Amino acid sequence: MVSINAKAKHAVERRKMVQHQLAARGINDPAVLEAFEDIPREIFLPPQYESQAYHDNPVPIGSGQTISQPYIVALMTEKLQLDKNCDVLELGTGSGYQTAILATIARRVYTIERYNQLSETAQANIAHLDLPNIEYCIGDGSKGWPEHRRFDRIIATAAMPKIPQPLIDQLKPDGLIIAPVGTMTAQELILARKTDQGLKTHQITPVRFVPLLGEYSFNE
Ligand code: SAM
Repeated sequence: MVSINAKAKHAVERRKMVQHQLAARGINDPAVLEAFEDIPREIFLPPQYESQAYHDNPVPIGSGQTISQPYIVALMTEKLQLDKNCDVLELGTGSGYQTAILATIARRVYTIERYNQLSETAQANIAHLDLPNIEYCIGDGSKGWPEHRRFDRIIATAAMPKIPQPLIDQLKPDGLIIAPVGTMTAQELILARKTDQGLKTHQITPVRFVPLLGEYSFNE
């Protein structure tokens, strides 16, 4: 339980994070900045890390996984060019923080997590917020959403050696996918658009994400 004083302190830290870590580094989509103002990051962290909620770095969330640096969450969200017409597939629910940011801006978010425990904690975290537009799945996100579905946007918050074919199949024509692509230890953040000629990709920046372990990604 977060006290009223702690809540007020976090609100101040959150505003500073938006100004100094996001806006100052070039994030300028008002919907993205507003979502970061709205969503309390402290509720997504294990209690022993609550004081690091607005630090400029990733933080452990259990099961050997991390919640990404706020700037990277914001950059990936902005690059997806979201609006209320977008259905988004997210691979790697983790703490649920990125899920909550996406659900604040998009129409609906479908999120897949490999670890039962993390998905359950994420669902409990998000239950504190008014975000009814999220569907959860526990499983291997490299195979896409288990039922046949097409998405306007896909975001992977774990690293993959290349973009898995099932994800390309589940992306609508002209849809966007953003993912860290490379080795288990170093990747390039890739933004790709699905065109009639295949995926048109752009490299955004070097990144380091935990691996997406699954049938169409790194071996488990
Ligand atoms: N977006 C998350 C957040 O805001 O807290 C952080 C995600 S963390 C960097 C990467 C997540 O991908 C981990 O929770 C990990 O368990 C998950 N993951 C790894 N392989 C997966 C797979 N095949 N399918 C779904 N999730 C996977």
